[in-house]
Amino acid sequence: MSVLIFIDHADGHVKKASLEALSYGAKIAEQTGDTAEGVVLGEPTEDLTALGVHGVKKIHQVKNEALNSFDAQAYTKVLAQVAEQTGAKTIVFSNNSSGKSIAPRLAVRLKAGMVSGAVALPETQDGFVVKKTVFSGKAFANVSIKTDIKVIALNVNAFTIVSSEGKAEISSFDATVDAPKVKVVSSSKTSGSVSLTEAEVVVSAGRGLKGPENWGMVEELASTLGAALACSRPVADAHWRPHNEHVGQTGIAIAPNLYIAVGISGAIQHLAGVNRSKVIVVINKDAEAPFFKAADYGIVGDAFEIVPKITQAVKKLKGLA
Ligand SMILES: Cc1cc2nc3c(=O)[nH]c(=O)nc-3n(C[C@H](O)[C@H](O)[C@H](O)COP(=O)(O)OP(=O)(O)OC[C@H]3O[C@@H](n4cnc5c(N)ncnc54)[C@H](O)[C@@H]3O)c2cc1C
Repeated sequence: MSVLIFIDHADGHVKKASLEALSYGAKIAEQTGDTAEGVVLGEPTEDLTALGVHGVKKIHQVKNEALNSFDAQAYTKVLAQVAEQTGAKTIVFSNNSSGKSIAPRLAVRLKAGMVSGAVALPETQDGFVVKKTVFSGKAFANVSIKTDIKVIALNVNAFTIVSSEGKAEISSFDATVDAPKVKVVSSSKTSGSVSLTEAEVVVSAGRGLKGPENWGMVEELASTLGAALACSRPVADAHWRPHNEHVGQTGIAIAPNLYIAVGISGAIQHLAGVNRSKVIVVINKDAEAPFFKAADYGIVGDAFEIVPKITQAVKKLKGLA
């Protein structure tokens, strides 16, 4: 029996979130005495054998032109074939946008119990119990999966990538691939920016910045740190920043290692999308701003004075100034 891990990729490269899923799946296999195998749809340019360092012995690869652009329905059908033919008992996804759209579909198809938002390895001594976040990360629940086949979607940044030595064997998998029901006519990418969901560091700003003309200092801090940019919802609603930067309950949920919030009050709807960040730094002139309760580090003061000083300090540290 195997633990099958879905390997997500974009622009030829395996996503960091999938390295976490691979490490997590390999640990489950270790716990349950199964083998850890990966599955990749399409053809990333990266050397897939190197993923063996994360604990997978074998990677099933399905090469088909129809799989070159993401199609949740087509991917689900192919993954179901791989899962069935390889006898996978546990299937692991990252709970990123791809995982969120495929994992539930696959669970239905395989009549499998599913947990999304997993944050820890399952307890497998007596049953199969997975810890997950609930209520936008405000609490945890332990969920017991009772079905033979289990599907888990692991929260991004919830599990440390494990690397040792080893190479994975790449095995070509011959799957029946339906003609796509939808066709991607064109796609446009936000230029030059670090991907928000994959970023290790995010610099985010809110209405405290007063207007779009003041974003220069935030952009400079972000580029000095190699960070992605984010914003609060009113900022995107007012068209100060594009909507793809809006984080929160109704925006993108992120979990970077470092989240720097500038002039954001910390409303519950904003926190819902950022409270899984490892370290939160809040810069706000109001010492009573609710965000300080969720912050690891807080700076009470005027962002217009503090942000340029931080940028200068980072530049100095990096030998850029
Ligand atoms: C159903 C629903 C869904 C929502 N979803 C989201 C969501 O996904 N994401 C989201 O962000 N919001 C969301 N909201 C809105 C949310 O409730 C807040 O209104 C919003 O997050 C506030 O944005 P803000 O902190 O930028 O602005 P404000 O609340 O106006 O806060 C601005 C902050 O800047 C500080 N400030 C002002 N000047 C300075 C300065 N010079 N230096 C430093 N600090 C300064 C102020 O002290 C204040 O704390 C949602 C609301 C609803 C009802």
